Amino acid sequence: MKNYRKYWKLGRPEYNTEFFDMTKNGELLVKEGNYQYNINKLVKKYGSSLEIVFPYIIEKRLSNLIDIFNKHIKLHGYKGRFHYNYPMKVNQNKEVVLSLISAGANIEVGSRNELWLVRQLWEQGQFNNKIRVLCNGPKTQDYIDLITKLRAEGLNIVPIIEDKNEYLALKKFRGNVGIRLNIDVKVSSRWDKKIDRFGLYPEEILSLGKIRNLKILHYHIGSQIEKSEDILKPFMRAAEVFAKVREINPTLDTLDLGGGLSIPYDKKRAYSVDNVAKRIVGFIRKFSEDRNIPQPDLIVEWGRYIVAPAQITIYKVVFEKPIAKSVAQRWYVIDGSFMNDLLDTWAIHQKWHVVPVNYMKEKKLARIWLAGSSCDSDDKYTAGGSYVLLPRLEDMNGEPLYVAFFDTGAYQDPLASHHCLLSSPAKIIVQDGAITVARKRETPKDVGKLFGW
Ligand SMILES: *Cc1c(COP(=O)(O)O)cnc(C)c1O
Repeated sequence: MKNYRKYWKLGRPEYNTEFFDMTKNGELLVKEGNYQYNINKLVKKYGSSLEIVFPYIIEKRLSNLIDIFNKHIKLHGYKGRFHYNYPMKVNQNKEVVLSLISAGANIEVGSRNELWLVRQLWEQGQFNNKIRVLCNGPKTQDYIDLITKLRAEGLNIVPIIEDKNEYLALKKFRGNVGIRLNIDVKVSSRWDKKIDRFGLYPEEILSLGKIRNLKILHYHIGSQIEKSEDILKPFMRAAEVFAKVREINPTLDTLDLGGGLSIPYDKKRAYSVDNVAKRIVGFIRKFSEDRNIPQPDLIVEWGRYIVAPAQITIYKVVFEKPIAKSVAQRWYVIDGSFMNDLLDTWAIHQKWHVVPVNYMKEKKLARIWLAGSSCDSDDKYTAGGSYVLLPRLEDMNGEPLYVAFFDTGAYQDPLASHHCLLSSPAKIIVQDGAITVARKRETPKDVGKLFGW
């Protein structure tokens, strides 16, 4: 008999599906310690389209990452410390941010409005004073004002200077600052821009001479970096710059690698985080010894890597249509929209791992393209011109077919929209055996309201 669990790539740590499994009846199952949740039952109860968030997965992934770095720090006798700063832009939903904080995250914000939310938590006493908040993104005056105010109130906050204007605007800032380096290293990532608008070139940073209270050298080269080599290359280059800048600025003691660690969305290849961490720590230890500089603290801001696998999005197949001449045989039209709910499908041709939620043990599968319910012909998912294999509706005894899209926790919610005024998916949070509705299903009235009706 076919091993369906293996076939749908469930229970595989290298693909970040270790928390997923299936029931004897071929229904999708998620495990949280000794709890487990039958996704087919949840979607029947809460309806579709549906987003399901698993804070447990977020916490596990972060504590795992922290453990990995601390293990290599110990093995190498490394003197610097490891910090994780969660880049809020990846997913600003409160349950996500709170889960990360509880698992030991510091924060990175990219705008005044994100910082304003952090301030809410801070004023409500929801995190301890040790948490450090890094501020990236263009520093508008209202953003700088808020940073200054929060520093005065005692928040551990560090603005990262991204260009000369910001350098001038923050010259009188009394707290610690960081500076963003623009490194010229080519990496395999969709976001590896030939010309990067953020950061200062090494010569520019050096030409500034002594920078008051300079603490952190930061760079961020791109997201979803496809090869582990390409995590290491910019890091090595940044270390060179770090050593030079430190000669002029002895207060500099932290190197911040930014984001970029990838998710194996297509469940084909993946690199090992353990190996990446080992090489990072091994390299910087030797480098610091060779250059005779104190071993710096390290920060990573790997957002996508931590939160993407903590959410799945479920749709019901509402009808099918034949496709005449193509690699795929049928359209399955879903009760949601790629352009609205999973916008990267359209924006960057994101590939997703798609599995049925029920009828996972069907022997005969059809080659499928999926289409959203909007009136837009771009609202579709073709797995990059290939196809998705899914059960045939005629084999389902009149039951509806539900499909799950994996790894939807990063970047999709903040980019979500209302093309054709479709309703967003409802959202539930599943934690400690209990379910909380985080976003109710939008009525036509709710959606109209967003547009002034
Ligand atoms: C977007 C961003 C990140 C997160 O990148 P991921 O690829 O999601 O890890 C981290 N740091 C900065 C400065 C960013 O702009």
